[in-house]
Amino acid sequence: MENTIHGIFEKENQAPSSSQTFDNTTAVILYDDDNILGINISDLFTSICNPKKNYISSHELWNILDRMGIRYEDPRLEELKKYIQTIKQEIDSDSTNKKIRKPDFRNLILRSTLLRNTLIGNLSIPDFPSLAQSIQEMYNKTKIIQEGKIADYIPQLARVDPNMYAVSICTVDGQRFSIGDFAEDFCLQSTCKPLLYCIAQEDLGEEKVHHHIGLEPSGLGFNELSLDRNNLPHNPMINAGAIMSCSLIKQELNIADRFDFIINTIQKLSGGKKPNFNNAVYLSERQTADRNFALAHFMREKNAFPPNTDLTQTLEFYFQCCSIEVNAESMAVIGATLANSGICPLTDKRIFKDRTVQNCLSLMLSCGMYDYSGEFAFKIGLPAKSGVSGALLVVIPGLMGIAIWSPPLDKIGNCVRGLEFCNLLAKRYNVHKYDGLGSIDSTRNPKSKRYETKYRDIMALIASASTGDLHEIQRLVAAGVNLNQGDYDYRTALHLAAAEGHIHVVKYLIDRKVNLNPRDRWGGTPISDAKKGKHEEVVELLRVYGAIE
Ligand code: GLU
Repeated sequence: MENTIHGIFEKENQAPSSSQTFDNTTAVILYDDDNILGINISDLFTSICNPKKNYISSHELWNILDRMGIRYEDPRLEELKKYIQTIKQEIDSDSTNKKIRKPDFRNLILRSTLLRNTLIGNLSIPDFPSLAQSIQEMYNKTKIIQEGKIADYIPQLARVDPNMYAVSICTVDGQRFSIGDFAEDFCLQSTCKPLLYCIAQEDLGEEKVHHHIGLEPSGLGFNELSLDRNNLPHNPMINAGAIMSCSLIKQELNIADRFDFIINTIQKLSGGKKPNFNNAVYLSERQTADRNFALAHFMREKNAFPPNTDLTQTLEFYFQCCSIEVNAESMAVIGATLANSGICPLTDKRIFKDRTVQNCLSLMLSCGMYDYSGEFAFKIGLPAKSGVSGALLVVIPGLMGIAIWSPPLDKIGNCVRGLEFCNLLAKRYNVHKYDGLGSIDSTRNPKSKRYETKYRDIMALIASASTGDLHEIQRLVAAGVNLNQGDYDYRTALHLAAAEGHIHVVKYLIDRKVNLNPRDRWGGTPISDAKKGKHEEVVELLRVYGAIE
């Protein structure tokens, strides 16, 4: 019998207020079915519920989500919170902590894709605690680095505490982890450039934008007084290009509304609160802007700007954008939105088109790290953008955004700790665009589940032994698999080959000097399995080689 979600609430007497909305993928379900959307509710509930109780507390549920990187304040959890409020039974008279019994649990699972995916381990980083631990280790290793010098061309940057250090990540599923000074605001500076480029493309389209901005790395400093052979800025990631993006964005609006538009877009990209604006930084930037003025005049001389561009206004707009402040947490979500092809993982709203983001990531990869862009692309292989405030925005396409903030810069202008963090990251995980084109060691794949590494190979070995697929066994041996490993029930390749009578596999395993007498969970040995299967030849062979009966 088919029924709507309302039927369930009626039956279980947990009707939420009619104003609540539903996840429309689950609008129609089978009424009495314990299996919902391929998930067995009883099994799932038992897997998280304390066996002595027949409920899970809402606090425990939030903790499970938290361990997987899903924050309590995640906007996607609003529906769940509203539902949990309607549950009557409190724990220890704490109105925030409710007893979630199976029927309620089922209703929660029905209405939240996020909860479903978290509990069945279907998020982009299935083993999130391990990743968080690695990030913490890499953070601690890089925190002790003392090299680098803070940007001092304006007093507001020169006064920042050089010990500040934050790393935040957000995956394309909105799993988040932050460490260090992640709540402190810093100015975007040049990390606004990729965002301005995206906004300009959304506004005018790729073709119009590239009528005014090139696509090549300049091979020169970020504020070099130089244009490409078409007399255009080389790319949108250097000053000339970003000033050009500013001239293009929302030309029909007045300058105040243009700035509001940028702030609102950045807020949407971060799925959170409105970014701040540091007026002192803006005023200082404006005061020390000879080079940027020179660049703008040079571009005007070469007719690079769109018609009717007000030069001073455009430059001020650019300085304002550089002076927008976010913290590492927000910046990581911005990175995750780019990693997620323009859809903010926390709100599920599309902010930029696929193509806009694809263009932006391509140019971040080739031009995002000042004069170090080529080497960064070579070594780390990820799109990134750094800024003089010590901000570093790194995108792992399809996986996550990473925000690093540490003010001391190297001679080229990149954040020293951030670069070392990226080196460690690329060593630890196969995040480089071209890492893992051959076979990847799954311990280096952040998408692996916790026991996947270990058990994937064992299961492949056991399955090949039971089907008699010697080629596959040989391939696994070549890849370094240990032939003596057993599965969860301690059943080894020899048990399975003997039980199924695959004598050629048994011979091969004996030649490879495997243990002839491993005992499975029930005490069974390969020779006892061969006897049970009446595989006399196998029994004889094992006996000859000394298997104990
Ligand atoms: N406000 C700086 C400038 O335009 C930005 C520099 C940077 O972060 O690269 O000179």
